[in-house]
Amino acid sequence: MLKINYSKSFDNNIYYTSIANKKFDIKVCKKVNSKCIKKDGKIEYVIRDELKDISLDKNKKTISTLELFDIYKSLKIGNFESLFMSISLEDLIIGDFEKIQQIKKQIKSNGGIKENKYIKFLFNYTDLQPDVISLFFENHLDISTCYYCNIDFVNTYNTKSKKKNKFTLDHYYDKSTYPYLALSLYNFVPSCYTCNSKLKGIIEFTNLAPSSEKYDFEQKVKFKLFLDGMCQNLQIKSKKDIEIPLKENYSNDFKDYIEKLYLDERYRVHKDIVFEMIQNAELYPESRLKELQNLTGIPFQQIKKDIFNLIDENDDLSKKPFSKLIKDISEELGLV
Ligand SMILES: [Zn+2]
Repeated sequence: MLKINYSKSFDNNIYYTSIANKKFDIKVCKKVNSKCIKKDGKIEYVIRDELKDISLDKNKKTISTLELFDIYKSLKIGNFESLFMSISLEDLIIGDFEKIQQIKKQIKSNGGIKENKYIKFLFNYTDLQPDVISLFFENHLDISTCYYCNIDFVNTYNTKSKKKNKFTLDHYYDKSTYPYLALSLYNFVPSCYTCNSKLKGIIEFTNLAPSSEKYDFEQKVKFKLFLDGMCQNLQIKSKKDIEIPLKENYSNDFKDYIEKLYLDERYRVHKDIVFEMIQNAELYPESRLKELQNLTGIPFQQIKKDIFNLIDENDDLSKKPFSKLIKDISEELGLV
């Protein structure tokens, strides 16, 4: 619903470095008489076969994601060479949304991936989610509401010991189908639990993600105000008399998105926000606002803004819940 406005502090090189430099411990595993990578005391991955052809420093205790990615590619392990031909780790991790779509297309045309243990091992979201990925979003993006629905607050807050967050990170392209995109920065959409887990799951939308520079839901889709046939000149007695569906002009790019996230149904239960705006519009016609201006000396536009909670043209809609609804309905009611 809302495009993610990445601030200047959203330095994707910091993110890339933290992923590329993630270290895996190399241990000698007596059990398999080989060198292997261990995690939580368990043998996670035996590297003997893969690394026998290259000179690995005997004293080397760790190996980074970037080193392993390059080794897999150069030794043609797990089809890395053909799958990721002309795709770098940097492209995968911090390529923009259009790059992600291009990679997805290229890998599909290279035969796609099926149960590739090397990809799953290298791009492991669960390992990195709390300490690297969520932490990066907490520190570098000022997240307030869900970018999919703009209904729920999903902000970060401080406790005595550390920061905590209320957002979940949705993989726009799900990580089980596209495990090589499991750590891709612009494949993440900070969202509420309802949108991410209860509704979207592994559904793949046909349109662009809120992380795309070209994402244009705000411009294309608007909340429209429909009045019950009996209501003339906004003589609306109750919220039952109104409907506020999302309507897209001239295209159907976001139809599946609106339907699958049940946006019309979820906004219908918040019709009281719009009902209140309509009541205020009746209580404060232009003549009344002018009287208030004369009485108080406060500029007309300021009074209007305060009474109707109007949203400025350049305000970031993601900062408050229901901003998109309020903005669109203000236009419908002729308040702006
Ligand atoms: Zn949501």
